[in-house]
Amino acid sequence: MNIVVLRETLSGEARVALMPESVKKLVASQVSVLVESAAGLGAARTDDDYRETGAEVSTDRQALLAAADVLVTVNRPATEDFAALRNGAVVLGFLRPLEEAAALTPALARGLTTFAMELVPRITRAQAMDALSSMATVVGYKAVLIGAAQIPRMFPMLMTAAGTVPPARVLVLGAGVAGLQAIATARRLGAVVEAYDVRAAAGEQVRSLGAIFLEVDLGGIKTEDAGGYAVELSEEALARGRDLIAEHATKADLVITTAQVPGRRAPLLVTEAAVNGMRRGAMIVDLAGATGGNCELSKADAVVEHDGVTIIAPTNLAATVPVHASQLYSRNVTAFLGLLIKAGQLNIDMNDDVVGPSCVTHQGQVVNSRVAAAMDAKAS
Ligand code: NAD
Repeated sequence: MNIVVLRETLSGEARVALMPESVKKLVASQVSVLVESAAGLGAARTDDDYRETGAEVSTDRQALLAAADVLVTVNRPATEDFAALRNGAVVLGFLRPLEEAAALTPALARGLTTFAMELVPRITRAQAMDALSSMATVVGYKAVLIGAAQIPRMFPMLMTAAGTVPPARVLVLGAGVAGLQAIATARRLGAVVEAYDVRAAAGEQVRSLGAIFLEVDLGGIKTEDAGGYAVELSEEALARGRDLIAEHATKADLVITTAQVPGRRAPLLVTEAAVNGMRRGAMIVDLAGATGGNCELSKADAVVEHDGVTIIAPTNLAATVPVHASQLYSRNVTAFLGLLIKAGQLNIDMNDDVVGPSCVTHQGQVVNSRVAAAMDAKAS
């Protein structure tokens, strides 16, 4: 049984799907791991590091694809890579199944069994496979560091002989995994932090990190689904949040936005008018850029200067911390492979409560109903 790791080809991508420590575990479980040469270099791992843990390293990408029983990736393989796989092979990675469902059509043609790390259910049993949380942790941390390095002020309050320096003020919108990590990082640097989320449960978590939770009266409407995710709000409820945000943004030096609703465009939380009310030198780091952004002025992967306020919306911040992002992701992938492989052989149980819901395509069919609906919506 061959597990194959390729060098990622997406521009700016430095992560790798399996780190050598994971390869060692897999090889010990009686499978072969084949790695494309230089696959780990972005994450500071050499071909020799992989060889030492028992992997076979090759420069022949086509031969690797043809030999793969399971291809593990960070990003969705390119169409030509899908085409070079054997019929019935397994693919596991961030496949963007809801946002770009149509891009998985080549997988149907090859009869591939594809698993999207985004679809791994957030149940206790699957916690070790929760790659979304792993990446959100890295991204929330890095967003604060980028902001701290960019704004023209220091973060901590300092009392010096030359007088007192007040602490920076950080506003975090969306207190899920990325938002909570951003709050914790900003607090460690000494900032005063305020945070807003539509889920009431987020309040306690925000306060436990020493930040102030901003509350808005949404009239008791339902703000989250059974899985604990935020739901899409009515325009009126969104407007109430925006008013509160605009008011608090006037005092912020750094605004970090992380609000997402699975399978939907990100909610618009920071309007142009709110940006106009911000201080000169302030910055917005919009972490929802890949799904449309939380700020009206955000442009994915571009730097926008608006009347003294800088707005960035990096869509792949996890790739800028490639060692730890890869290490966490690699462990998530290895835990998932543990469900697919028994005694060195593929053993896919679609009735498993983690395996089934994570599957996108199997035997030429789209087996995930949300993805099928997204494909139909695109086609019609
Ligand atoms: P996410 O990336 O989907 O969204 C980020 C945050 O944005 C969420 O907290 C969401 O409530 C918030 N948000 C959405 N619309 C908003 C709006 N209009 N205004 C303000 N905030 C808005 O979320 P996530 O970080 O992936 O986590 C979502 C939930 O899943 C959380 O409850 C989290 O605790 C939970 N979770 C559970 C597990 C587990 O049990 N294994 C693991 C990870 C996350």
